[in-house]
Amino acid sequence: MAEQGKILIRQARIIDPANGIDAEGDILIESGRIAAVGKVKADGAEVVDAAGLVAAPGFVDIHTHLRQPGPAGGETVLSGTRAAVNGGYTLVCAMPNTDPPVDSPAAVAYQALLGKRAGYAKVRPISAITLGRKGEELVEMAAAAAEGAVAFSDDGDCLPTARMAAKALRYAGITGLAIIEHAEDLSLSGTGVMHAGDYSASLGLAGIPASSEDVIVARDCILAMETGGRLHIAHLSTSGAAEIVRRAKKSGAAVTAEVTPHHLVLDDQALESFHTSFKVKPPLRSRNHVEALRKALVDSTIDCIATDHAPHRFEDKNVEYDYAAFGVTGLETAFGVLYTEFVQTGIMPLDRLIALMTAKPAQVLGLEAGTLGIGAPADVVLLDLAYEHVVEEEDFLSAGINSPFVGWKLAGRAVSVLVDGVFRKRDGAVEGASPPSC
Ligand SMILES: [Zn+2]
Repeated sequence: MAEQGKILIRQARIIDPANGIDAEGDILIESGRIAAVGKVKADGAEVVDAAGLVAAPGFVDIHTHLRQPGPAGGETVLSGTRAAVNGGYTLVCAMPNTDPPVDSPAAVAYQALLGKRAGYAKVRPISAITLGRKGEELVEMAAAAAEGAVAFSDDGDCLPTARMAAKALRYAGITGLAIIEHAEDLSLSGTGVMHAGDYSASLGLAGIPASSEDVIVARDCILAMETGGRLHIAHLSTSGAAEIVRRAKKSGAAVTAEVTPHHLVLDDQALESFHTSFKVKPPLRSRNHVEALRKALVDSTIDCIATDHAPHRFEDKNVEYDYAAFGVTGLETAFGVLYTEFVQTGIMPLDRLIALMTAKPAQVLGLEAGTLGIGAPADVVLLDLAYEHVVEEEDFLSAGINSPFVGWKLAGRAVSVLVDGVFRKRDGAVEGASPPSC
């Protein structure tokens, strides 16, 4: 009989970038934590044969939209965290642009509670920066942090003035937490619906210029330097913004940046289809920007990968392109897309990709995650790299099926996922496939 909560994952290829490990071995889990890694003998443990699989820390997403509270029929904390586990994520940071927004300490506490109740991937709430996300008055930052907020963001909107951005950086700095900026100057992006370039001109669609992102990233980097505040740039998408972050880091600014899988892989040519699954903010950029993002990821100007998982209801996407909501889902395709596009092609080694999805994002927001170190929470993903599949809408556990990768043939997926030492996905199936909504 196996002892309760004692699990031995045997003969996996263990990749744990936080501890510099890439070797075959075993992982012993006891009482929800990593008890031993290496050649392990353990009596009374449930043995999980992981020969041929990669064992890594569970993925960490610092940019997830869970949409609860929000409109009926949309994503919930339950459906979103199940989707997370399906994609190999064991911790997600929930963006506060829900309806109503998470802009009070009580709302932060409630998000954390919803996550706990759902019982799949861990939920770490991000608090809004300003009340009602209106860009006018700061939330109670210290109290929000005390309730478990891991960062502040008005994502979906940009802080409207330099004055407000400076104030936010200064006050968030006192809590030690980062301001996550959705960098978009609305006076430049206006009613744009795709990247401003050759394709927007030929398709006759209103464009969003790269400068709309660049000027805000420049503004905020200058203010981060002046205030000493911690700045994190969400979904960086332009070569100009990457260059500004590169220079700001060299100057000693406390700035970090993330990039999404879709901005690394897709470009604005995709809009020729007029398919609303490619409508996202910031928009899919032209190829030269994509190449610059890849370079910035390789040279560590960009710190980590985040999905910006933005599920939408069918009726909000299944309309004419101009009227469709911005955003794409990402949690369930991120690893397969990146493994297929970057590791299989030799652009990036596997341990580097895993670092960008585990230790690096955890480091950016200072989360206790992304490591298989002894004593760490036993958040573990087992990856089957040989598994090939075609992305199908009906396979998504997210309430949003607005994925730009439907129909893609991918290699690699999370077959089993443990959160705090408990299987939430096992042998390809997420536990409790259709639980009642919470
Ligand atoms: Zn955003």
